[in-house]
Amino acid sequence: MNKWEIAKVLDEISKYVELSEPNRFKALAFEKASRAISALDREPADMLPSGELQKTPGIGKTTASVVEELARTGRSRYLEELRKEYPPGIFELLRVPQLGLKKIGMLHDKLGISNLDQLEEACRAGRLRTLRGFGEKTEQKILQGIAAARKRQSQFLLPIGVEVGEQLRERLAGIDAIENAEVSGSVRRRLEVIRNINIVIATGDPEGIKRNLEKIVASLESVDPSTAKGVARNEIEVFFHFAKPQEFGSILLRTTGSSEFVNALLERAGNRSAKTEEEIFERAGAPYVPPERRESADDLRRKRARSLVKLDDLRGTFHVHTTFSDGRNTVLEMLTAAHTRGFEYVGMSDHSKSAYYAGGLSDEGLKVQQAEIAKHERQVKPMRVFRGTEADILADGGIDYPTETLETLDFVIASIHSRFGMTKEEMTERILRALDNPFVTFLGHLTGRKLLARDGYTMDFDRVFEKAGERGVMIEINGNPNRLDIDWRLVGRALDHGVRFSIHPDAHSIQEYNALISGTWAARKAGLSPKEIFNTKPVDEVAEYLKERRAAATK
Ligand SMILES: [Zn+2]
Ligand SMILES: [Zn+2]
Repeated sequence: MNKWEIAKVLDEISKYVELSEPNRFKALAFEKASRAISALDREPADMLPSGELQKTPGIGKTTASVVEELARTGRSRYLEELRKEYPPGIFELLRVPQLGLKKIGMLHDKLGISNLDQLEEACRAGRLRTLRGFGEKTEQKILQGIAAARKRQSQFLLPIGVEVGEQLRERLAGIDAIENAEVSGSVRRRLEVIRNINIVIATGDPEGIKRNLEKIVASLESVDPSTAKGVARNEIEVFFHFAKPQEFGSILLRTTGSSEFVNALLERAGNRSAKTEEEIFERAGAPYVPPERRESADDLRRKRARSLVKLDDLRGTFHVHTTFSDGRNTVLEMLTAAHTRGFEYVGMSDHSKSAYYAGGLSDEGLKVQQAEIAKHERQVKPMRVFRGTEADILADGGIDYPTETLETLDFVIASIHSRFGMTKEEMTERILRALDNPFVTFLGHLTGRKLLARDGYTMDFDRVFEKAGERGVMIEINGNPNRLDIDWRLVGRALDHGVRFSIHPDAHSIQEYNALISGTWAARKAGLSPKEIFNTKPVDEVAEYLKERRAAATK
């Protein structure tokens, strides 16, 4: 096991220990050890023979023996024992905001509660108030917490919806009695979070098709004569809409939504059935609007359809991590993968020194990383490699490296990774100050949001966009499906201030270059065309721009 895997196991152990031990110190010891292991600049296995591991600050006798066992065998008997004591779903109770590990441990030991259903039942029966520290009020709050946790549970990130929808569509396409099948709904509109999957099926024989559907989804039931629903992969609700071939277009349009957009369109086009969506737009005298852009009635009023950016338009990218910070692949592996994808250029950016939890690089460490890049860039010719950093925006808005270090870089992504709790005013000032640093090229994941997990921090967006436009700092479209940050809903306002964008994968492994796919979805949803996106530009133009910008900064 490498250090990241070991750190993860130590974290898991600390969670179990916190459940089971009244004394917090033991759990803390594992938490501390996990952080110490992540911060190592070497692999624990290499530190065993010399006994250095045991001497590492943050590692104690007990934790060292666990690390040693993990490094040698890839297992921890201690963890395996702990896992046996608790049912596997116990940590889902953490999704209830009022519950921490200590309380969950108590609920399990005293009342045998180990999942949301049991917890809800116990609350309703008034059994929680028999425990110390729980009262009637807490029970009510916990019930609300359960409802909120469930609500989140039935939501999914877009890539899951796209993947499951596409798989179902392919299976349906293979059935003879089906003339056409298309995914519609919020998946087709590329909303970042979805609740269900909708598929329109053109067929003359809905009843016959239902028998086929039973084989591909569970719990199939009829909603009405032209709609059935079922559950795919044990979790996602799927609606099947049956259409006669001559009404396929109108059903596709209606089930794609949004209802506001569809109503506005049908008001002009009339409510007649159509074989294709294009017919309906034509009847309304409106240009065809791609599904991603069908949210509000305004989306219909635009005079001209814009050409939305496509994945193929991206000629390169930035924001790529390596094992020098918290990436899982080496510099050479990340470069090779970018080269294989046919990129003209790639910008490497590991974390900066204040991001110690992510293995951020000191000024010295950054030099070593640059030397490693220099060593390998010949191997990926003619792809151009740009040297950069994802530098922390410090609490006071400073950038995490001094000028002498920033001068050595082709680009700087400035991101916030700490102190999320500032007030809106403080956060705005912090970011504005960062944007004033002339070395900053991109503003990384604008709000720090993690979809379905945490909201982003707030700021005065218009002031930030105005400053970014003025200073020529581009705003990143972070393609990580958990982030998709900047929110597409804000992009129009940023454009009004002259801001430009760049689509980045924030890749921590070679697979994560795929985040450019979801990043492009977000850019399309925002209505962006290739000309507003920096990394659609050819390598010479990009290199020239970065060079001039740096020259202006050093002047
Ligand atoms: Zn980041
Ligand atoms: Zn990053």
